[in-house]
Amino acid sequence: MNENSRMPGLLEGKNALILGVANRWSLAYAIAEAFKREGARLWLAYQGERQRQTVEILAEELGTRRLLACDVTQEADLEQLRQALRSQADPLHAVVHSIAFARREDLARPFIETSQEGFLLAQHVSAYSLVAVARAVAPLMPEGGSITTLSYLGAVRVVPNYNVMGVAKAALEACVRYLAADLGPQGIRVNAISAGPIKTASARAIKDFASVLDAVAERAPLRRNTDPAEVADAAVLLASELGRGLTGNILFVDAGFQIMGI
Ligand code: NAD
Repeated sequence: MNENSRMPGLLEGKNALILGVANRWSLAYAIAEAFKREGARLWLAYQGERQRQTVEILAEELGTRRLLACDVTQEADLEQLRQALRSQADPLHAVVHSIAFARREDLARPFIETSQEGFLLAQHVSAYSLVAVARAVAPLMPEGGSITTLSYLGAVRVVPNYNVMGVAKAALEACVRYLAADLGPQGIRVNAISAGPIKTASARAIKDFASVLDAVAERAPLRRNTDPAEVADAAVLLASELGRGLTGNILFVDAGFQIMGI
């Protein structure tokens, strides 16, 4: 069976919004590629002017002109996003939230030294934004659909230097469960993919990230790291009919690393 015939058109006829494309290495970009392969009509959202040129090039490769700038900490940007999507009149079926941020210094020094400001910023961008995005998009999903976010093992275990981001991911995973309970009656499913560590711009901000990659390759049951395409295929599953029974889940796509003790 070849690559194209493996899962043909799983998202055919679906409109999808993917937030968090910054560059070619972004998990959001891998997810956008997989969604396109499966026939989804794509909207891409990026943080702001700094990414615009790069994202325009990527959008062209993905065959979409539906591009939106949206800083998720800005209510006005979220409102603009909602208006732009609503003006299309097409229902939205799938939303991917692939966004996180913490200050570099909070990912390097001991967690106990986290400032209030750094803590709240990480929570705002990395956890609360899922709630804000869900509130903006849910009314645009009258046929039901799926909202997927990206988490990491640092939400539930101590991972060196992940610190304030681990606490933000713990909040994000709790948000997934509460949103799933709120939106389930409307047929909207909410899940997270807990991805294994992958070299991206965000990951590079974590001190000694290379040693985390090495530890996973050495100890994970599959004895290797996670490929962005594996995360993207899991996102396809969650957004597609195949995922219709899944909500409130944290789905590990990490070569099995999270099951290991010593
Ligand atoms: P990335 O840097 O490519 O993506 C992070 C995105 O967040 C960027 O597009 C950035 O512009 C966006 N962002 C930050 N602040 C924002 C704001 N205020 N408004 C709008 N967008 C904002 O890195 P990535 O690794 O692709 O990260 C995507 C998601 O995957 C994150 O939630 C990250 O925590 C998660 N994740 C990454 C890994 C990994 O090892 N790379 C593992 C597990 C989970």
